[in-house]
Amino acid sequence: ETTSVSELEHELKELVEKHRPDGQTGEVANYIPALSKANPKHMAASLCLLTGEQVQAGDVDERFTLQSMSKVITLAMALMECGEACVFEKVGMEPTGDPFNSIMKLEIMRPNKPLNPMINAGAIAVTSLLPGTVEEKVERILSFVRRLAGNTAIGFNEAVYRSEQETADLNRALAYFMKQYDVLEGDVEEVLDIYFKQCAIEVNCQDVARIGAVFANRGRDPETGEAIMPEQIAKICKTFMVTCGMYNASGEFAIRVGIPAKSGVSGGIMGAVPHCMGIGIYSPALDDKGNSVAGVRLLESLSATWGLSIF
Ligand code: GLU
Repeated sequence: ETTSVSELEHELKELVEKHRPDGQTGEVANYIPALSKANPKHMAASLCLLTGEQVQAGDVDERFTLQSMSKVITLAMALMECGEACVFEKVGMEPTGDPFNSIMKLEIMRPNKPLNPMINAGAIAVTSLLPGTVEEKVERILSFVRRLAGNTAIGFNEAVYRSEQETADLNRALAYFMKQYDVLEGDVEEVLDIYFKQCAIEVNCQDVARIGAVFANRGRDPETGEAIMPEQIAKICKTFMVTCGMYNASGEFAIRVGIPAKSGVSGGIMGAVPHCMGIGIYSPALDDKGNSVAGVRLLESLSATWGLSIF
């Protein structure tokens, strides 16, 4: 039995209203001052089917920054531009069970490489691998995001970028540590600058759903069918989304929701349901692990209602 697009939209609207936050549960990220201005009552969701059709509900005009969702995108780029061997020489494939910005295991593990590309250390190392000058890398990341989202209007949020740069002592510590152990390539401050910019790329939930749809569609543009990345790379990215995409709540999320997904501290979540759809969610109030409270609840409902778990 197939559900029509208008039925999907109707059900999505109902579920978004059901899970819309009251502003009392969870907290908007405040360690980056510019993020603390988000309204904790906001909630939006978008689905992008593999035909390219999109449906959405809630505060769909709200924009937010990619933050950690950008880690999946730069991973795909590094895999395409440098190859698997080069990337996995610098970062591992295992979940950490620690918070996203933890330094602990970097010190303990031998060799001292970050456990995976979804934690900050691993993502900063991946960004350092991208070829080109600072300007070229930033430009290439932005145009790749635009290509995935099918939206040439996407740009940076300068205030978030600056705020991030000013409050990045922990990310600096991670990066300098990795430089000492030859994990990080190039100039540390330059790499960090690119990383802050990729985190500060500004999108809406439609963009995020469209990006998720490319991963769901085995690396192909959902409208044209054109290959944007090789299937094997889309597969690696989705696998990391399952094992490490929801911070140190990835195991519980896999059980409760079962959708490859990556969250960011802006309150965004990008989902990729293989062969089915991309999902973009925004609701900025976070739980203690850094995941959108309402976003996770909505995904749990969507997964149960439509049987989306990959397991
Ligand atoms: N820019 C953020 C940081 O590095 C990204 C964190 C996140 O979304 O998890 O602190």
